[in-house]
Amino acid sequence: MSPTTIGELLYWSYANLAMAHAAVTNRATSYGRVHFMIRARLLKGLRDGTMNVGSLVEDERLKMVLPQACSYCGGRDRLSVDHLFASDRGGRDTGDNIVWSCVSCNSSKGVRDLLDWYATRGQFPPLLLLRRYLKLAISYCEGQALLGLPLAEAPDLPFALDAIPKSFPAPAELVLWCVPLA
Ligand SMILES: [Zn+2]
Repeated sequence: MSPTTIGELLYWSYANLAMAHAAVTNRATSYGRVHFMIRARLLKGLRDGTMNVGSLVEDERLKMVLPQACSYCGGRDRLSVDHLFASDRGGRDTGDNIVWSCVSCNSSKGVRDLLDWYATRGQFPPLLLLRRYLKLAISYCEGQALLGLPLAEAPDLPFALDAIPKSFPAPAELVLWCVPLA
């Protein structure tokens, strides 16, 4: 699958995320038929508008049950807030764009985009963090009517379009969150 529009890329990534999420939750060691079906069904639904990525409510609920800890390392010392979409790239000061981050992760990340930062560390982002990022990206592009735009014509965006994952590692290499969830 090689997406040609912004919307196709984001939907493809989101459908893969749902597939990976199901596989990790089931402790599968590799992707199987049922996971590919989840991906196919969601991709089709997103394309034809019968399904959507869901509100951020579920992610907000997750935030409530998570301990107050760094979203990147799980540390609890010297916490501050970080923006998933950087504020100097147009990321907003809203709850869905803000996560806890420790001083150490904050300074390591610097002004880099979240996905670029994970890439430089050779890590794939935790799925629930990536889910929020993709939802923000889809909702931003919906609002700006950018989903149908060819990738080559993408304007400046508050997220890293080039770093949106098109393929996902095997389930065993993925985590839902930076620390195990209770
Ligand atoms: Zn940290």
